[in-house]
Amino acid sequence: MKIKKVRGVKDILPGEIEKWQWVESITHSVFSNYGFKEIRVPIFEYTKLFSRGIGETTDIVEKEMYTFEDKGGEMITLRPEGTASVARAYVENKLYNPPSLTKLYYIGPMFRYERPQAGRFRQFYQIGVEAMGSQSPSVDAEVICMVSELLKRLGLKNTELQINSLGCPECRPQYRELLKKSGREKFEELCNNCQQRLDRNPLRLLDCKVETCSEIAQELPKTAEHLCEKCDQEFSLVKELLTSANTDFTINFKLVRGLDYYSKTAFEIVSSDLGAQSAVCGGGRYDQLVEEFDGPATPCFGFAIGLDRLVSLISTDDNPEIFRKPDLFIVALGEAAEKETFKITQNLRKQGVSVDRGYESTSMKSQMRKADKSGAAFVLILGENELNSRTCPLKNMSDGEQKDISLETLLADAKSVLISPT
Ligand code: ATP
Ligand code: MG
Repeated sequence: MKIKKVRGVKDILPGEIEKWQWVESITHSVFSNYGFKEIRVPIFEYTKLFSRGIGETTDIVEKEMYTFEDKGGEMITLRPEGTASVARAYVENKLYNPPSLTKLYYIGPMFRYERPQAGRFRQFYQIGVEAMGSQSPSVDAEVICMVSELLKRLGLKNTELQINSLGCPECRPQYRELLKKSGREKFEELCNNCQQRLDRNPLRLLDCKVETCSEIAQELPKTAEHLCEKCDQEFSLVKELLTSANTDFTINFKLVRGLDYYSKTAFEIVSSDLGAQSAVCGGGRYDQLVEEFDGPATPCFGFAIGLDRLVSLISTDDNPEIFRKPDLFIVALGEAAEKETFKITQNLRKQGVSVDRGYESTSMKSQMRKADKSGAAFVLILGENELNSRTCPLKNMSDGEQKDISLETLLADAKSVLISPT
């Protein structure tokens, strides 16, 4: 019986996985320089965590969640994003004690029932960051600088950082009313989706992708021009700090983000190399979510990077270190040589040398082909004669030069032999 994978998911195979591992290792390194610690939260949670946390009127909750009833009759959802789970874990584990800025990040799969297409999967991966416990705009700026640095370290070009301010519970209600009023004036021209959600979630009108809505959005009142004094000052400070760190940005008045919990600074990083699904990263400030889960008042700032899209932008030509190649490949000819090869490879790997080998005594030609394909720096040939004399040909694959080497010399200090064989 031939069984295929479910629609909208993928296998990440060798040849591709190296890029993921490389991105992940640089992520760990950059984030730890900024004092962030990894958190691993479950892949599934009670459904109400997401419906309450993300917001009942969002696309994710209305249409995209993978929800099922488990055998105990509980409603469970595969996480569509990480922030709600991290906020839950923060409250449940009392990470607010002692009070300080809690800096967390996660890397892992997310699940959304969306129409699969380029850059959009049903199981996809995110790198996410949550800085919890400060309302200082310098946290906004620092976290945005951190993600910009990460993308720089990964060699990404053609990205644009876009920022906006969504206001706070003080100024947003008036702005929402203003938007509703302007939206109603153009009601007949709006797409069905925007007509339906105009009263519930008028902000989404700003980032609707339908062309007519997008044109209308151009003329709508802009959030950043209707901020209260405090939000306005904080937004100015974020911009000032970004500028002082040489982090380029543009203001995108239409940027609203699709989740209910955001307020004040919101940002996205888009790439012109990605096609229609151009957002690599999105995030912003969310000051009410932790209280929503009965935690103490905890202003937060976070973001999530779409790892699938990010990895698709990585160039292996510019970063050849992504693929680790064996230091040595051993061609083993004959039964006795095979046994000795087993011992030698074990010994060398313990010395930290990366070794691959031929198996099942296939022909010299076929093993040499495998050695070549593996990209090994050196090839050692071990047949019956070599076994008797304990001396083998060692070929430097970069210049083709071949020298004899005694097995004892190799085993005594493999690392230096393989740098400059004598
Ligand atoms: P989009 O507008 O692309 O639907 P979103 O606002 O739903 O994005 P977020 O919830 O902010 O996305 O998630 C952050 C990032 O995760 C996105 O910028 C994107 O790179 C990535 N992402 C979101 N949904 C998917 C998906 N279905 N497949 C692959 N990556 C995704
Ligand atoms: Mg989406």
